[in-house]
Amino acid sequence: MSTDFDLCVVGGGIIGAGIAQAAALNGLSTVIVERKGWGSGNTHRSNRLVHGNLERFSERNILQTREDLLERKILLTIAPDLIKPSWFYLPIFADNKRVPWSTEMQLMAYDILAGKTKLPWYKRISEDEWRDLDGLNQFKLEAVYKFSDAHTDEMLLTQEIVRSAKMHGALALCPVNFDEAIKTSDGYKVQVTKGSRTRTFECRFIANATGAWSSLTAERMGLLSKLPNVQYVKSTFIEFSQQLSDKRFLIEPPDKAERLIVSPWRGGTLVGASEKLFSGNPDHVKPTVDEVEQLVKTVRHHFPHFNHSPSQAWCGLGSKTLTRKQSKASDRRLFVLEESRYLGIYGGQLTSYRILAEKAVKKILRVLNETVEDALDTPFVSSSSISI
Ligand SMILES: Cc1cc2nc3c(=O)[nH]c(=O)nc-3n(C[C@H](O)[C@H](O)[C@H](O)COP(=O)(O)OP(=O)(O)OC[C@H]3O[C@@H](n4cnc5c(N)ncnc54)[C@H](O)[C@@H]3O)c2cc1C
Repeated sequence: MSTDFDLCVVGGGIIGAGIAQAAALNGLSTVIVERKGWGSGNTHRSNRLVHGNLERFSERNILQTREDLLERKILLTIAPDLIKPSWFYLPIFADNKRVPWSTEMQLMAYDILAGKTKLPWYKRISEDEWRDLDGLNQFKLEAVYKFSDAHTDEMLLTQEIVRSAKMHGALALCPVNFDEAIKTSDGYKVQVTKGSRTRTFECRFIANATGAWSSLTAERMGLLSKLPNVQYVKSTFIEFSQQLSDKRFLIEPPDKAERLIVSPWRGGTLVGASEKLFSGNPDHVKPTVDEVEQLVKTVRHHFPHFNHSPSQAWCGLGSKTLTRKQSKASDRRLFVLEESRYLGIYGGQLTSYRILAEKAVKKILRVLNETVEDALDTPFVSSSSISI
């Protein structure tokens, strides 16, 4: 064996960290390269929820929601210090797109899909309790539900997964930029840079976990033309330095678009996200004045007393999952180029990082099986067997 590593993971967001952890646990010599900070990319620019995505429930594959809710249960067990259960409050107004009975059906299905968990079921809260909802506008308010989900500190979680990967033998390089990879007969010769220092190493397989930057990464490997075209979605968030409430709300914008999440965040309030398709350099994504105004308008509509101005506005960027035809795999988030020993990840969720990483590593092991002796003879080690 002449190469330095079996696997090089490019990108230290939650997905890359999970892949490095699962790979190291399963005996692959692994290096992970992150250019800025663990979890500092779009993992950081998310709603930080560990959830089955109630808002997308009706348009998503039911199996996907079920998988996410099972992952929520596993993560609450293996990382209780980092994943916290929480109530989410869902007000329904007379002029909302959703009506109380269909919301109730949706919440019931969501709780049933979660299976047996320690989290309490949804509840419709009484009108007497509405006054405890921190100034929520009660004009045309028809019903308020609360349901269970979970949230996390996404950067701490990513750092802990990287720490676990390192404990199991992975080499974690940060801040180190992945410059390029040149195909060799046995895998890749990779060049990385830290400041003015350049280093090269060889690896058998590359997992591109750079999320919104994955096309740029693939370009640096000369693979872009072999990869599927994906759409990117930009989401805008605003932050207030004042705390609106210690509760989390899902609120519908006056234009009946997708609901926004209002959460307490580091002593202030985080509100997001409104989504738009995006093309261009991911490093240059930023919110428009109009997007920020729409978010502020929605907050004021529901909480008229909260007339503060946002202290910050920023965007998260995610890719859509592949179409079935593009992916050619059972999971539309994974794309493997077997002959190039390359795996790309599209549309990964923070919640399902663990199971997605395991699926990715199983695929990598299958490709490497030709050269890594006994890789598949050893039973796969699931990361849910270790606490984070
Ligand atoms: C607006 C929004 C809200 C979301 N909210 C939720 C939520 O509440 N719950 C949930 O489960 N999921 C949520 N998601 C999905 C999920 O959070 C993100 O898609 C996921 O965290 C992305 O993780 P990642 O590791 O794929 O990407 P990233 O976290 O973006 O990681 C990619 C990393 O690659 C690095 N990188 C790029 N180029 C290079 C290079 N050349 N060399 C080295 N490193 C490089 C970047 O610095 C970055 O850290 C949300 C997504 C969006 C867009």
